[in-house]
Amino acid sequence: MEKLLEGRVALVTGAGSGIGRVDAEVLASQGASVIVNDFNPEAAAATVDAIIEAGGHAIACAGDVGCSAAITDAINTAARQVGDIDILVNNAGIAGNRRAFHEIDDEQLDRMFQIHVKGAWYCTRAVLAGMKQKRRGKIINTSSILGMAGRTRASHYAGAKAALIGLTKAWAKEFAEWNIQVNAVAPGRIRTPILGDFANTEEYRNDLLAKVPLRRRGEPEEIAWLVAFLASHQADYITGQIISPNGGEVI
Ligand code: NAP
Repeated sequence: MEKLLEGRVALVTGAGSGIGRVDAEVLASQGASVIVNDFNPEAAAATVDAIIEAGGHAIACAGDVGCSAAITDAINTAARQVGDIDILVNNAGIAGNRRAFHEIDDEQLDRMFQIHVKGAWYCTRAVLAGMKQKRRGKIINTSSILGMAGRTRASHYAGAKAALIGLTKAWAKEFAEWNIQVNAVAPGRIRTPILGDFANTEEYRNDLLAKVPLRRRGEPEEIAWLVAFLASHQADYITGQIISPNGGEVI
């Protein structure tokens, strides 16, 4: 059977860890050549090695998605090596460090929007001309249930993730003319390193059991296969949608 993404070129940001790494591995397993971005060059290289070891195609593209000129250059250089990008997964992100509204300073607020919102904007801008020329493209933004439902002590993170939902809907309408579909995944609580030690605390476990009907965290694979489907030809009629694998926490 033909693989879902044979012949496609995909860029996954923040793919040195967690959800992004598994997104990259699953897209590669489905035949895509994957450009692996991460802030940390060693982490990006490790994901590339894992993909190549599994028989896939990947190259690294290290860089900060929040730095407009540098990330644009890095993406253009990578695209010259493997071809114009068909699939962009805007995944790079940082945790919100639980803080009350009045404790969030300007620097933390700027960093949150710089990475999640402007980072997705810069990467989208870098790949768009190639997609328009091919009259084909898939952009998948990584939002969060916090962007849909909010949460106390995380308003900078929730605000940035909600902005991604707005961008997803606006871009879906604006880019439809070129047959580019734009969707978002909005994960609930997924087992990755992003929360650090907080995910092992009694407070976190009790909160999860009280609020998540399926009574467990999700696995990165449970996001990555959705991303692979949204990136495929089979999802061509889906655009502007926010799909939230979250164990029933937000319905
Ligand atoms: P993760 O394991 O920490 O992975 C995030 C990756 O993004 C890290 O490798 C990180 O690199 C990289 N990154 C951070 N800032 C970057 C930048 N400016 N440029 C390029 N790469 C950057 O976290 P994750 O849980 O997989 O999160 C992936 C995405 O899912 C994020 O957008 C997150 O907000 C979202 N999300 C996660 C959950 C969850 O429960 N895990 C739930 C909802 C949404 P460094 O390690 O070097 O910083």
